Amino acid sequence: MMLTWAGKLGTGCGPRGCFDCPSEREPACIKCPVCDQAGCDACGDSGMFEIDQCPRRYVDGFYWELLRFAKLFKRGTPPIQGGALDQEIWFLECCEFLWSEMDALTPQPIA
Ligand SMILES: [Zn+2]
Ligand SMILES: [Zn+2]
Repeated sequence: MMLTWAGKLGTGCGPRGCFDCPSEREPACIKCPVCDQAGCDACGDSGMFEIDQCPRRYVDGFYWELLRFAKLFKRGTPPIQGGALDQEIWFLECCEFLWSEMDALTPQPIA
């Protein structure tokens, strides 16, 4: 679920640099995407996962692009000229998944 978190937290992040991204001074705390708060190695059994750098660093280039397209498409700009029917089916499915995941996520206040 790191991908949807990156999409959610990296809303201001673009080619021109970071804006509003988590940092070491202002980390974002999320529910551990690995164990869903059950406690595991990734989160040190705390159930919470701290993101202290740009969420873009957590996803590789292809997925970051995908996120960018999904967000653009949500605002009405499809990656391929045309309507929804002109888009690749995997892309549409991916968008649906990302959108619903992103809507369900709410950054936790840092305890
Ligand atoms: Zn950033
Ligand atoms: Zn965990």
